Amino acid sequence: MNLKILPLLVLLTVGLSLFASGCTGPGNSQTNESTGQDVEVTGSSEPITVAVSLLPQVEFVEKVGGDKVKTVVIIPPGADPHTYEPSPKEMGEASEARMYVTVGVDMPFEKVWIDRFESINSGTLIVNSSNGIKLRELAADDHHEGEGAEEHAGELEVGHEETGLDPHIWTSPANAKIMVENIYEGLAKVDPGNKTYYAQNRDAYFKELDSLDARIREKLEGKKERNFIVYHPSWGYFAADYNLTMIPVEIEGKEPSAEDLAKLVDLAKEKHVKVIFIQPQSSTRSAQAVAEEIGGEVIAVDPLAKDYIANMDNVSDIFARNLV
Ligand SMILES: [Zn+2]
Repeated sequence: MNLKILPLLVLLTVGLSLFASGCTGPGNSQTNESTGQDVEVTGSSEPITVAVSLLPQVEFVEKVGGDKVKTVVIIPPGADPHTYEPSPKEMGEASEARMYVTVGVDMPFEKVWIDRFESINSGTLIVNSSNGIKLRELAADDHHEGEGAEEHAGELEVGHEETGLDPHIWTSPANAKIMVENIYEGLAKVDPGNKTYYAQNRDAYFKELDSLDARIREKLEGKKERNFIVYHPSWGYFAADYNLTMIPVEIEGKEPSAEDLAKLVDLAKEKHVKVIFIQPQSSTRSAQAVAEEIGGEVIAVDPLAKDYIANMDNVSDIFARNLV
């Protein structure tokens, strides 16, 4: 290599990688420093880092983004999204992402974050995945604050008080399509060069989601008793889409009183409900108590599982088996 042009090459390389990686910070450059020869940094060869709040959103981003993206999940598996407070390290990771996909409805930490992102001018594109979704209000009897919400700072509580909207938007495949469209629009914005690729992927995933929806309808067809009891009210959008009625055990994010439990047992007997659904993230004590009273059982269904379509198939199988 001609030594005279080496400094120029290095400058060019650094300049190009800064340009290509935008705000993603260090560690994303593909430049080979020992040879300095890796000048073909085009921007599109480097996967775009996309942060998401919840595990199910990973599939949405990966299906649209394919090998052009890599994802970072903010809320770790098993954590309660309603009360989770990400560490400064996790926030740092998200603020270095090119795009951050929020749930966008009543997730207390997201509100705090978006303000902070703006104050540090991180340059991360915030994509509100609930944009365009018809939001459902939490019914008076299934309004929940999230366990331990009162322990948090005032700003975290306010969101719940103000909105009373149901944040569990992704449990409806129809909503998932809107979330996917929002993700597509975000990717097309941060990486316009691959817009056609993203659009093709989006359309293919739409077909998968439409088939999922058709399978769920088929499974639930002809069920007469369409009531189900669930510990935490995560399945409201699912219930609304498939003409089911969700009866939550949890009341305003708290364990129900003995009186509430007695009422629930009566209701379960009246509606012939034999199964209490719980999610792995929630407590089982009162769910177990109700199940014992009605001679039924407790079954876990996870609204926060990875592999969205596979999980929704699994969950709808469980619903179908346990509705009469
Ligand atoms: Zn929840």
